[in-house]
Amino acid sequence: MNSLQITTLEGSSVAIDIATIEEFTTGLRGPSFLQGDPEYDEARIIWNGSTDKHPAIILQCSGAADVIDAVNFARRHELLVAIRGGGHNVAGNAVCEGGVVIDLSNMNSVRVDANARRAYVGGGALLGDVDRETQVFGLAAPLGVVSLTGVAGLTLCGGLGYLRRKHGMACDALLSVDMVTADGNLVTASNTENPDFFWGIRGGGGNFGVVTSFEFELYPVGPTVTLCAPFYPINENTEELVRSWRDFMSKAPEEITSNCLFWSVPAHPNFPEELHGIPVVIPAVIHIGDVEDAAEILQPMRELGDPILDLSGPLPYVGLQTAFDPLFVKGERQNYWKSLYLDSLDDAAIGNIVNRARGRPDPWSLIALWHLGGAMNRVAPSDTALGERSANYLLSFDTSWTDPADNKSAIAWTRDAWAEMQAFSRGGIYLNFPGEGEEGESLLRASYGSDNYDRLVELKTKFDPANLFRLNQNILPGK
Ligand SMILES: Cc1cc2nc3c(=O)[nH]c(=O)nc-3n(C[C@H](O)[C@H](O)[C@H](O)COP(=O)(O)OP(=O)(O)OC[C@H]3O[C@@H](n4cnc5c(N)ncnc54)[C@H](O)[C@@H]3O)c2cc1C
Repeated sequence: MNSLQITTLEGSSVAIDIATIEEFTTGLRGPSFLQGDPEYDEARIIWNGSTDKHPAIILQCSGAADVIDAVNFARRHELLVAIRGGGHNVAGNAVCEGGVVIDLSNMNSVRVDANARRAYVGGGALLGDVDRETQVFGLAAPLGVVSLTGVAGLTLCGGLGYLRRKHGMACDALLSVDMVTADGNLVTASNTENPDFFWGIRGGGGNFGVVTSFEFELYPVGPTVTLCAPFYPINENTEELVRSWRDFMSKAPEEITSNCLFWSVPAHPNFPEELHGIPVVIPAVIHIGDVEDAAEILQPMRELGDPILDLSGPLPYVGLQTAFDPLFVKGERQNYWKSLYLDSLDDAAIGNIVNRARGRPDPWSLIALWHLGGAMNRVAPSDTALGERSANYLLSFDTSWTDPADNKSAIAWTRDAWAEMQAFSRGGIYLNFPGEGEEGESLLRASYGSDNYDRLVELKTKFDPANLFRLNQNILPGK
């Protein structure tokens, strides 16, 4: 083999001499993998088992210098580029067919300055890396709820976790980033340095560059928090139960965060075998305040019926953050997700959700109703690119199934369920959740809001006019 065929930005293919590629890769500090290398398959697999892409070359960068070289190489040869942080994005944009993957998974260092309550986090770190290093000081950054998710993708499109009501979203706790831009420069962006970039990356995803390091503000959390997680079988009382959860959460202090989950008891050794597969509603509530008070405050949620299982009780914050990990295994299942915001939950909306919960295409398919509000909703929509800050709920259809033969029907079910719920929504989606496919400009505009979207297009036109960073919720540069 004298040359390697690599997919270009425009979708055609170009032959690059192996000598040229070797000269480039031997200059990198981190390893790189081509098809046929023993490490290649492991390096191309990401969380969503539906994604089966074969990049021409995977560059596992060791630091900002590798990222700069990788961006310059891709830009000079006009190659299709994917950026991989934690590899958890359901749309599968962390890898690409025939192109170049800039993989940051080895850049996962976390340094904490406990006195200043700051964490400096590598662009490929996972949430668990941050929790491990921050919790030793009784601190936490407001990230997501599964510890194997990447900090980068999650933060750049918002970032919702158990601290959202008390401390805001991940992007709200961001103080600065180091980022390699499309022209190969390493820039720092914060409220005072390159503020345009800083505005754009807090919601605008990977559209503007490759983030090599994040600086987060930290907050005192735990180390013990309280979980309330009764599993109620889905039955004729479920709609009433959801109304009670809604009313409880509407008066809850900001130390309390909740997702109401419509699921089936997972067929996993962590759960009693005789319960596997029973459809359940779980009003999962987290209290991050005083552990002494929490049990009494959360008790009403444990008395909404006869739970078949109850996981409630105090637990370490790190234990809470890793509790879901065994149930969301990398590469194991097919996934397609889609979400929408809701201002309120009236009887008709609840009726539809419960009806959909009964008809989920697979017991592992989850419907999650995220209660929002508090600190995350006090940020003005124009303060960060993210936009949406007023909805009280996020409804997410996290459809998951095993057999690829069911892809068509499972995806169609998700789209139908989402379309049916549009009657209750102002439009727009949470851009961290969509599956592969059909988002497009009008949905992005609705999600960011028109003013923010126009500003994002301006930024993209100025800083990435060739759209080098296009494998994301892509903001198209203007002409
Ligand atoms: C099991 C599971 C649980 C989840 N839980 C939550 C949750 O609790 N809260 C929540 O808000 N979301 C959650 N998500 C959604 C998650 O935030 C997104 O999937 C996010 O994109 C994951 O980030 P990643 O770095 O792992 O993804 P990747 O697939 O690696 O990256 C996604 C995209 O982000 C961009 N990107 C990644 N790294 C960089 C970088 N260093 N610089 C610039 N751009 C980059 C690229 O455009 C890339 O295509 C969850 C997803 C899964 C699968």
